[in-house]
Amino acid sequence: MQNNPGFNTLAIHAGAQPDPTTGARATPIYQTTSFVFNDADHAASLFGLQAFGNIYTRIMNPTQAVLEERVAALEGGTAALAVASGHAAQLLIFHTIMSPGDNFIAARRLYGGSINQFGHAFKSFDWHVRWADPADMDSFESQIDDRTKAIFIESLANPGGTFVDIEAISAVAKKHGLPLIVDNTMATPCLIRPIEHGADIVVHSLTKFMGGHGNSMGGVLVDGGTFDWSKSGKYPMLSEPRPEYAGMVLHATFGNFAFAIACRVLGLRDFGPAISPFNAFLLLTGIETLPLRMQRHCDNALAVAKWLKQHDKVAWVNYAGLEDDANHALQQRYSAKGAGAVFTFGLKDGYEVGKRFVEGLEMFSHLANIGDTRSLVIHPASTTHRQLTPEQQTAAGAGPEVVRLSVGIEDVADIIADLEQSLAKA
Ligand SMILES: *Cc1c(COP(=O)(O)O)cnc(C)c1O
Repeated sequence: MQNNPGFNTLAIHAGAQPDPTTGARATPIYQTTSFVFNDADHAASLFGLQAFGNIYTRIMNPTQAVLEERVAALEGGTAALAVASGHAAQLLIFHTIMSPGDNFIAARRLYGGSINQFGHAFKSFDWHVRWADPADMDSFESQIDDRTKAIFIESLANPGGTFVDIEAISAVAKKHGLPLIVDNTMATPCLIRPIEHGADIVVHSLTKFMGGHGNSMGGVLVDGGTFDWSKSGKYPMLSEPRPEYAGMVLHATFGNFAFAIACRVLGLRDFGPAISPFNAFLLLTGIETLPLRMQRHCDNALAVAKWLKQHDKVAWVNYAGLEDDANHALQQRYSAKGAGAVFTFGLKDGYEVGKRFVEGLEMFSHLANIGDTRSLVIHPASTTHRQLTPEQQTAAGAGPEVVRLSVGIEDVADIIADLEQSLAKA
């Protein structure tokens, strides 16, 4: 590769080389559970973390390693760890940071699954989330206390497609000596590279735009290498001797990639949400076309949003790429290439029309996912947000009239034609 390769080049080449034994050009699927040691001393040094190498696929695998190196390069981090899903990556991040009784601050506008994980499942570990308004810096700062361990946001928030002022939130995190964790699933590093705006850790659901084809689950965390884990004494997993590794101090030993190492050798090793080599291969293949796909996703979404906006059955369209959108200035500042592919709009006639509209679509798939090559649709009030009261639905941006689209990369004329025929019938 050239010195200082560009983003498109990295998406195809970072981390990969022809297979040294067979010459295979595509990264092979190393479908094996375990790896033969050279000799007993080699085995001992691998187990003691004195040498890097493959032991067992729960902890590390060569196909997974290429995926990790590629995502770390695209995000501008020092190292990455790929796991079975986005939620598994979040679990390993917080396991490395939190002790029982600790809390973290999270922006309220998040993927629904993250709201559940933080608000309910994490309680069994005695980890506590405090919700903040991503547009109000004081709502983050006023909730920080001496048990606060991190701030968590989405760079481009699901489901509304709203941009967040990452630098302003990073300033709050830095002032209080906290790491800023950014979920970059919806934007991908193609649109936003959060580490350049002050994030310390980036997390992804690779299941969405990164893999891009709706065929494999995966998640990844990226170590920005920017945070001092030893300074405050608040992160003992990184700054204190580990009994299972003969008293090794991970931050002192591994420096600016210690966080990714800790997530692997303490979190992934012991909880076990490993990514399968086959999924790592499919996700890697998807990432090779990420820049092309994201540009098409963004161009199509903007055209669809403009078309919907002038339609007489549509009450409103929430898309930051529209010039009169409240979020347009932030989008221009953080993501000038485009505003992503996921957004919501409102139908004039509420619940029944919303349901009929979704059912009447022919090319769009009605399902609970985003970031596929295919165009996707969901009516949150009758599906994902069904259990909420009407007031809660409206507060979550999922009122009876709301439809969410994930605009695919088909011909935009066909996407619009499908929307048009279903609006006419609804
Ligand atoms: C889907 C998603 C997740 C969770 O990822 P999984 O791969 O489904 O576990 C987290 N954050 C965002 C923004 C998502 O869209």
